[in-house]
Amino acid sequence: MNKKEQRGPDRARSGAKPPTTLATGVTYLKGAGPAVAAKLRLLDIERVQDLLFHLPSRYEDRRHIVPLNELKAGEEVLVRGKVAAMDVRFGPRRSLRVAIDDGGSGLLLRFFHFNELQKQSFVEGRWVRAFGTVRAGASGLEMVHPEYRVADDAALLPAEPKLTPIYPLVTGITQQRLRGLIQQALEVAARDPEFNLELPGLAPPDTMTALRVLHEPGGTDLGDLLLERHPAQLRLLREELLAHQLCMRLLRRRTLAQPGARIDSVQPASALLQEKLPFALTGAQRRVIGEIAHDLASGKPMLRLLQGDVGCGKTVVAAAAMLGCAQAGLQAVLMAPTELLAEQHAHNLAGMLGALGVEVGVLSGRMKKAEKEEAMSRAARGEVKVWVGTHALFQSEVRFAKLGLVVVDEQHRFGVGQRLALRDKGPRGVTPHQLIMSATPIPRTLAQTLYADLDVSVIDELPPGRTPVLTVALSNERRGEVLERIGEVCMGGRQAYWVCTLIEESDQLQAQAAEETYRQLRAELPQLRVGLVHGRLKPQEKDAQMRAFQNGATQLLVATTVIEVGVDVPNASIMIIDNAERLGLAQLHQLRGRVGRGATASQCVLMYQPPLGEGGKARLEVMRTTHDGFKIAQHDLELRGPGELLGRKQTGLIGLKIADPVRDAAQIPPLQKLADQWLSKSPQEARKVIARWVGDAEKYAQV
Ligand code: ADP
Ligand code: MG
Repeated sequence: MNKKEQRGPDRARSGAKPPTTLATGVTYLKGAGPAVAAKLRLLDIERVQDLLFHLPSRYEDRRHIVPLNELKAGEEVLVRGKVAAMDVRFGPRRSLRVAIDDGGSGLLLRFFHFNELQKQSFVEGRWVRAFGTVRAGASGLEMVHPEYRVADDAALLPAEPKLTPIYPLVTGITQQRLRGLIQQALEVAARDPEFNLELPGLAPPDTMTALRVLHEPGGTDLGDLLLERHPAQLRLLREELLAHQLCMRLLRRRTLAQPGARIDSVQPASALLQEKLPFALTGAQRRVIGEIAHDLASGKPMLRLLQGDVGCGKTVVAAAAMLGCAQAGLQAVLMAPTELLAEQHAHNLAGMLGALGVEVGVLSGRMKKAEKEEAMSRAARGEVKVWVGTHALFQSEVRFAKLGLVVVDEQHRFGVGQRLALRDKGPRGVTPHQLIMSATPIPRTLAQTLYADLDVSVIDELPPGRTPVLTVALSNERRGEVLERIGEVCMGGRQAYWVCTLIEESDQLQAQAAEETYRQLRAELPQLRVGLVHGRLKPQEKDAQMRAFQNGATQLLVATTVIEVGVDVPNASIMIIDNAERLGLAQLHQLRGRVGRGATASQCVLMYQPPLGEGGKARLEVMRTTHDGFKIAQHDLELRGPGELLGRKQTGLIGLKIADPVRDAAQIPPLQKLADQWLSKSPQEARKVIARWVGDAEKYAQV
């Protein structure tokens, strides 16, 4: 019996279509076949309910038709006019040009990609409604590739009564398709009495009303909606934060109710390790190792968050803990968010622990089948004590004989749910100790609120001898000087990064941009050995490129932002970030953290495309003057505009869909109180809200 049948037990017998519920798979909706469902899965949408919480990332205002004589370049507007002329212009780029006129003035619509059918629809005298950005063209104002509709009569092309929600998409799904599916999901939710229950202690509007406002914004207060301070937005983000608080509380309670392996060997292991290290551990590193040693010896499972700015040396701390664990005869595993980082950690750990006769095993999702099976069986037999793998892998079938400690590095996208799964990886009855490492700087008090289930350690000291990375912002008109500088640095025996950025999420476009830059730089700097790494390379190629850079075979590494997290090549002393104005502060800080890792003075060149907008200017200024990750995070918060946050997939932290833990920090304390009340008085509701926002409710429920 498959899942669908379980949900509609009578169907098989009666042949009738089972009622679609929020828990049913999306394929039960009109317009969602298996192909669409597969695409939706990429957006984490599997059940009807998931559609409800796939919120618009922004709104477009198509509520007013702007007269053509009032248009200004740069504005995104809805216009309407009669087709006055149409032609196909040949030239360097073939384009379809459609002149429209609304009696007051005219506008040119221009299409570079078009088909015959499209062309034929623009008959003189018909009406066109178009939405797009107005720009100054060679012969007056124009709109390139607007979204448009054509009809015989203007009355058939009215403005929209509501704001138009724009959803995060994947290729192969259109806004329209998604809107249709979400409409159906809203109907299902409206019929579901469970979904419409009052939730004690949460201010109105209720969930259903709030979702309607966000998906079909038609009423008043639309300004508030665009500014992300509408009561409906507030309600949903509070609900989400509450769900997380509930989750974390249950998780902590449940974990601490179980015994943990008693490990006394972390301090001696740390001393052993120190003997083999080429540097002295910092005071902060020693203090944190002490905190971990204490936890591991306590007989209770450790639940600890280790925070520390990029480059502060978290890896050594993890190595000491893992070594201690191995010496107690238990296994320890370090999980990295990418294959690249896993590789690198494996390499570093092997370097540190190999000298002490401790073998390091690797479990990579991209290993050949036989290789992987061999590694898995070694893990299962308990032969190798120290392991490195990726997060993705850990969710699968890997088992360890005697798992004592799990270290999670750069825990982007590693949510509470995944942490729950960890417990099942160890032998029966023993819950592995957990060390979560994060370079996302948030103030300690906030960390304690946010990770209510974790104890917090902070490394608040960089290794000595580091000089802050000298950061300059240069217009890309000065590229020549930058190239010269790279040449000097590399000829002097150092190495350089050139980071290509693109706003597009698409791997493919990013890879193209990087390849283009790579070709160009090779021509411009023929004396240098240049490498290239991006997300589209085959894993072996990527590894080879990284290794070549790590061991100095290549001097200049052209890369996409794949190198953002964790890559460690201390000899690299200069980083160029192309189009730096497009990146957010957190990302710039992470990237810059790749240089300044050795004792050499390092530089970071933020290249921008002039003219610089206000936001870009402010961000580059912060980067130029600030090096402390915590301060940068604070600026980030102040500079972030509305419209960047809602519905954005939160990378990092605890996998929230809507709430931004930093922006919404003030909401959290009252919700913590509410969470406690619910756990004692309304456990049913608690379970419902967790299921709604986090999933896996059954697991939490077995407290
Ligand atoms: P992060 O905390 O960002 O993960 P890493 O663990 O990658 O930082 O360490 C950054 C670099 O600093 C590495 O090259 C590491 O060997 C070095 N390092 C770590 N601790 C010290 C120390 N106490 N003194 C000098 N260098 C150190
Ligand atoms: Mg790291």
